[in-house]
Amino acid sequence: ERAARADAPIRPGALADGAALPLLANLGSADAVDDAVRLGAEGVGLFRTEFLFLDAEEAPSIEAQQEQYTRVLAAFPGRKVVVRVLDAGADKPLAFLATDDEPNPALGLRGIRSLRAGEHVLRDQLTALARADAATDAQLEVMAPMVATVEETRYFTGLARELGIRVAGIMVETPSAALIADRVLAVADFASIGTNDLAQYTMAADRLLGSVAALQDPWHPAVLRLIGEVGAAGRNLGKPVGICGEAAADPLLAVVLVGLGATSLSMSPHALADVRAALARYGTVDAVRMAGAALAAEGAVEARAAAEAAGAPSV
Ligand code: PEP
Ligand code: MG
Repeated sequence: ERAARADAPIRPGALADGAALPLLANLGSADAVDDAVRLGAEGVGLFRTEFLFLDAEEAPSIEAQQEQYTRVLAAFPGRKVVVRVLDAGADKPLAFLATDDEPNPALGLRGIRSLRAGEHVLRDQLTALARADAATDAQLEVMAPMVATVEETRYFTGLARELGIRVAGIMVETPSAALIADRVLAVADFASIGTNDLAQYTMAADRLLGSVAALQDPWHPAVLRLIGEVGAAGRNLGKPVGICGEAAADPLLAVVLVGLGATSLSMSPHALADVRAALARYGTVDAVRMAGAALAAEGAVEARAAAEAAGAPSV
């Protein structure tokens, strides 16, 4: 049992002023829970379930899914575990949610759009998750990828609740979801910002294309401004706003994200120690000041430099 593992205690994240900032793990498989536990994660902020089924020709059964989900939930008794329903399409194709050839797969039938087209797959997955939840003591939360509208938010949270999921949220990874964060968060229980896709869609720069990699930078003030919109909406509505993209693994950017209103950060378990150390160096007031400096900068490079300067102790 988790709490009994003295060799791997939970190591909570907190700012220098004591404000708690939960540090969660991104997982791509049930086997990865060992690393997350060993490195002190407070829970799971993103379980990418599509990686379980990349080679599957047919949709996995409810039972097969339940077994995988139970393994992850059982590793975190009493703790938050956020599972993302299948994010098929574009960079993560699944044979059983296949789409016809699309000229621009990143703008095609992916995420919640493809699940909707194959709703039986979504229903089975939510059913398997609800059963795994009932069999374990973790605090399961389920979220949908690639949501762009309030209507999609209502569709997903409604179906999730109908099938026994108690906490249902959405990923904010399209500019549209960020721009209407107040409206989607009025419907969803929480938001989790996927900075990889949010940067891709905000900067119109393919995340798989090396030639535009420099544009695909979460430090860009355009991306930071959208994140700030979501943070503000979460604060106004009293709803949690997590970050689960790679940006949360950059220690300095993690502090800025907190200043923009993030209430938890989820990352590859190997990034936890450095981010934990960075947060402990700054208070809430510092984080807000650093975020303001980054937002006011001209570009991504300048934003990082401005955040660093704003975080330096004054003499
Ligand atoms: C993201 O887009 O930032 C994200 C966390 O999801 P993925 O990288 O799996 O698309
Ligand atoms: Mg994504």
